[in-house]
Amino acid sequence: MTPGNTTVNLRELGWDDFFDGEFHRAGIPDTIPARVILQHKDLCMVQGEYGELSATISGRLRYRANTDVAYPVVGDWVAIKPQSNENKGVIQAVLPRKSSFSRQASGGRHRLSGGPAQEQVVAANIDTVFLVSGLDGGRNLNLRRMERYLTLAWNSGARPVIVLNKADLCPEIESVIKEAEGIASGVPVHASSATEKLGLDELRKYIIRGSTATLLGQSGVGKSAIINALLGTERLQVGAVRESDRQGRHTTTGRELILLPGGGTVIDTPGMREIQLRGDEEGLKDTFDDIEQLAGHCRFSDCRHDNEPGCAVREAIEIGVLDPSRFESYRRLQRELRHQAAREDYSANQEEKLRWKRISRWAKQMRKHNR
Ligand code: GDP
Ligand code: ZN
Repeated sequence: MTPGNTTVNLRELGWDDFFDGEFHRAGIPDTIPARVILQHKDLCMVQGEYGELSATISGRLRYRANTDVAYPVVGDWVAIKPQSNENKGVIQAVLPRKSSFSRQASGGRHRLSGGPAQEQVVAANIDTVFLVSGLDGGRNLNLRRMERYLTLAWNSGARPVIVLNKADLCPEIESVIKEAEGIASGVPVHASSATEKLGLDELRKYIIRGSTATLLGQSGVGKSAIINALLGTERLQVGAVRESDRQGRHTTTGRELILLPGGGTVIDTPGMREIQLRGDEEGLKDTFDDIEQLAGHCRFSDCRHDNEPGCAVREAIEIGVLDPSRFESYRRLQRELRHQAAREDYSANQEEKLRWKRISRWAKQMRKHNR
């Protein structure tokens, strides 16, 4: 066992009668249950009763799982066959999921490139998803976006809880809470301040021993700060928001399924962040539906609505059907989203490289250790 590994009670990690039943139904000899805490391609880190193991995926599982959906992801419970020594193992089966978050990926690992958009699961077995908004001045509560996040949550099988963070910066918190409650009947709404440590006990109530939570929300709303506050230590480096674009930045270190001191776990993965970005692009289309429709009538399908001939958007502005300032804010948002996408792509890539380095270094250590 690696130093620092402590034994955990499986139930603390989220094990319950459902998984116990599925594990026994699978009935694969010489396997033990464990939960995936980090995943990269075909290599996983899992945690079982006796600590952390690095695990590969069995040839049989790889052969049978001809979609990305069947591959283990963070949060999954797997049946693992430990090898020679307790620090390594082979995943023989992924137990059925109670809930899962996916994104549409074009072309999976078993598709020829250019194949159809495909579902890719990014995290599994989440009980509660906190939909986080930031109440700092420049960013109004975006109810449309919140509706999309709610849809995402309902589709995942996890229970949504709306969190209005940065409450310390909001003078009329009561009315904002009412606004949120208005679009989400039956969904709890909580205000919090991660930096002032307010409202966190309310959130802790949803992450009881053995349950799993995750956070969804735009970059900069305070997700890392909330996780840090719940943890009581600085796991995630909270990035300073630049006033110009309100972008936060953090670097994730180590495991992506985090055990909280009071019991309960939180999942935070780069994959979850990509789900969010997509939502925002769709949000732009929703919010500026009128402009999108006009653009459909431009002569050129790639019209940028500058000076192109046959531009329906320009024409609408000229005849007074479209407010030029509305068009300007559309353009501004579009530019922001493009920048954000480029930046997040870049940092996701960097982060992915770092993770991979960390994992392979770790695997190397394990191999040495086992010789
Ligand atoms: P993330 O991108 O959602 O993970 O956001 P971060 O946790 O990195 O936070 C972005 C910025 O917002 C950081 O500068 C935090 O210090 C700040 N922040 C987070 N929570 C709060 C809060 O409750 N109140 C205030 N005033 N600032 C916050
Ligand atoms: Zn046009």
